[in-house]
Amino acid sequence: TAGEMAAEIGTEAYVVGGFVRDVLLTKSNLDLDLVVESDGIAFAKKLAKRMDGRAKYHRKFKTAVVILPDGQRVDVATARLEYYEYPAALPTVELSSIKMDLYRRDFTINALAVHINPSSFGKLVDFFGSQRDLKDKTIRVLHALSFVEDPTRIMRAIRFEQRFDFKIGGQTLNLIKNALKLNLINKLSGYRLTHEMRIILNEANVLRSIERMNELGVLEAIHPLMELNSARSQVIAELERLMSWYSLLYLEPPLSVWKTYFLAMCMGVSKAKMEQIYDRFSFSPSERREFIHLRDAVFWAAGNIMNIKQEMKPSEIYETLSPVPLEGVLFIMARTKREMIKKYVSQYLTSLRLKTIDVTGEDLKDLGLEPGPLYSEFLNQVKLACLDGKLKGRD
Ligand code: ATP
Repeated sequence: TAGEMAAEIGTEAYVVGGFVRDVLLTKSNLDLDLVVESDGIAFAKKLAKRMDGRAKYHRKFKTAVVILPDGQRVDVATARLEYYEYPAALPTVELSSIKMDLYRRDFTINALAVHINPSSFGKLVDFFGSQRDLKDKTIRVLHALSFVEDPTRIMRAIRFEQRFDFKIGGQTLNLIKNALKLNLINKLSGYRLTHEMRIILNEANVLRSIERMNELGVLEAIHPLMELNSARSQVIAELERLMSWYSLLYLEPPLSVWKTYFLAMCMGVSKAKMEQIYDRFSFSPSERREFIHLRDAVFWAAGNIMNIKQEMKPSEIYETLSPVPLEGVLFIMARTKREMIKKYVSQYLTSLRLKTIDVTGEDLKDLGLEPGPLYSEFLNQVKLACLDGKLKGRD
């Protein structure tokens, strides 16, 4: 439909970027990015109307998102013509704007387009050797100033390299090293840094990505206290194992994977020094509070649980771990080498935490008890008694 519409309007439309890359790699990708060589917003409006979807706009960036009735998102962008810094690159008038659009992208593997106008539907547009790089499994930038233009591409290069098991090309690797020497990572805003770090830590192969960031000096550039050491590596490796175990259990609530890894990456940093790291990532006051609370809770619970000599009763395990956010609980499990403690944490995650009791605050009220803080204390005692089998609870 989009291709037909483009032909009607007399413009050219292309599917670009990650979607094309993933089709060629036979991987699934649900994000569809369109580039049109005309007003993208007007195009998106029309597309939304024709497909019974909704459109949202970003006037400043001349982009729009169309959400189709089945939930599929289609990003529509206007081919950028404002990049005249490289006028020599213009080959033919018809292809100029799509070529320019592709030229400002991060890597050759992301700079492919597929023409969708009916006259040449499905024709692959490859100006920069993208197919060759996909075949050679190489991450390559399009020009030497790429990392100067946008240092987040350093982290993106590592992300794609590890995700697809590709290699960063020799020249590109040198450009990354130069960019690091020039301290370009320092120029990145905390917001963009956090965004890229979150994405990397939410992907598979976290340890390999972190090791690669470390090897290239990215972590040190972000903050010297974040350099990897063997203790951190071990915990991250163990966390990777636990994350697959945890996700297979389909337990609720889902946990914030990246925060768990972030805890491990900052292992051993004092509370006071953590402030420097929060500053570097420009955490908001609430994010900061959340991490402080997470680390304090872990510190307190780990101190208690590591010191135990004899067996712990289920109620004791529950009382120790329930104040800790889930991310912290998994972190404690990954950090300990004692099988007994791993067993306790696993018992907490898979059973104790999920037990419910039949008594509610309403029941207490019905009994004529005055509502107040004693309610929750009472209910808590009932729960603890249930966990130890002194009262009957529900699984
Ligand atoms: P993913 O599968 O992780 O979503 P993606 O390639 O779709 O990968 P996005 O971040 O959604 O990644 O970006 C979409 C496209 O926009 C990319 O394929 C790339 O062409 C371009 N792009 C994104 N970020 C940058 C950047 N920092 N510099 C240049 N081009 C970028």
